[in-house]
Amino acid sequence: MTRIAFTNATLFDSTTGAFEEADLVIANNRIVEVGKDLDADEVIDCTDRYILPGMIDAHVHVMFSHLDFMKQMHTPFSYRFYAAMDNMRRTLETGITTVRDAGGADAGVRQAVSDGVIRGPRLQIAIAMLSQTGGHGDGWMPSGGHFRLFTSYPGVPDNIVDGPEAMRLKVREMLRAGADVIKVATSGGVLSPNDDPKHAHFDDDELAMLVKEAANQGKPVMAHAQATDGIKNAIRAGIHSIEHGIYLDDEAIEMMLERGTYLVPTLIAPTGVRKAAARGVQIAESSLRKAEEVEEAHRASFRKAVQAGVKIAMGTDSGVTPHGDNLEELEVMAELGMAKTDVLQSTTRVAAELMGIDHELGSLEPGKLADFVIVNGDPLDFGGLKDHIEHVWKNGRLAI
Ligand SMILES: [Zn+2]
Repeated sequence: MTRIAFTNATLFDSTTGAFEEADLVIANNRIVEVGKDLDADEVIDCTDRYILPGMIDAHVHVMFSHLDFMKQMHTPFSYRFYAAMDNMRRTLETGITTVRDAGGADAGVRQAVSDGVIRGPRLQIAIAMLSQTGGHGDGWMPSGGHFRLFTSYPGVPDNIVDGPEAMRLKVREMLRAGADVIKVATSGGVLSPNDDPKHAHFDDDELAMLVKEAANQGKPVMAHAQATDGIKNAIRAGIHSIEHGIYLDDEAIEMMLERGTYLVPTLIAPTGVRKAAARGVQIAESSLRKAEEVEEAHRASFRKAVQAGVKIAMGTDSGVTPHGDNLEELEVMAELGMAKTDVLQSTTRVAAELMGIDHELGSLEPGKLADFVIVNGDPLDFGGLKDHIEHVWKNGRLAI
């Protein structure tokens, strides 16, 4: 068993938030030792370098490449899989070795990465986002046509569901298709034509059934939840993470603290919609207006959640924003008052905890998978971090 030592580096300890000088030794695909003067067969000198745990983005859409829905309607169906290869490579290049795909990627995409057929971060997948009729995942257009963000095909069940019994079947279909996590929209959203981010979607009996069916098979639930009531309904139902959390009030924050619910803020997403429109991408008037409306509330909610000590896992909604720009989220989190070492913890250990993979990933500890990033500059300079990612190791192998 060849032991490779990475010596003279400064390591980020994501359990304490401290930096410490130490050597890191890996063998096969595992970290085997962290410390000083360790034996190894091969040495890689990392003087003046930092080593971070492989970063984790808890909310991406690797199958979405842009917001130009007209262009997408004129693109052959299978093209998205090839575009996703590029999206995933760019994600890996930023030091992100694990992602939670919040809808779009199916079991074949996950397997192609894990088998090494394509290069990308390891994936947990939601497959599609469950939505009520007229909800955030319903692509019915006022013209009477359909534009589905979550197209159904053999690997992806249809995502529209109404009523508790139908919900039972729908969750089982998603789990049968290989979902690691069930995603549901408990409120309206920005990029959909017929709904309002301030309205709650699904009733309590539907959400109770959803959480129960997922739990029966040991799977958590993530909720696209922007409206205050949609957030609270999700927390009450026992959903594990609030995605976006745009209209958080004090009571919602209190409930999250009580239940240990995670927030995955995706702060760059609404800004990304606005920026795309400024670049000339055709965005529906209603979506652009909604993006502008939610931006300030979103930031204020995030600040409040940070101050209250809500568990926050980094997530970007990349796909809405360009893949590879993920680390911009870290910059915004810090700007809005989160301590920089907390931001790094949120991008490593906390995200791993949310995803239930903290026994394998999220920190540089013996026994864990050898996922780490070698940084040739200050890792707390988030604006420059992307340019300072020198190498990315995933599963004990040099990936980038
Ligand atoms: Zn999303």
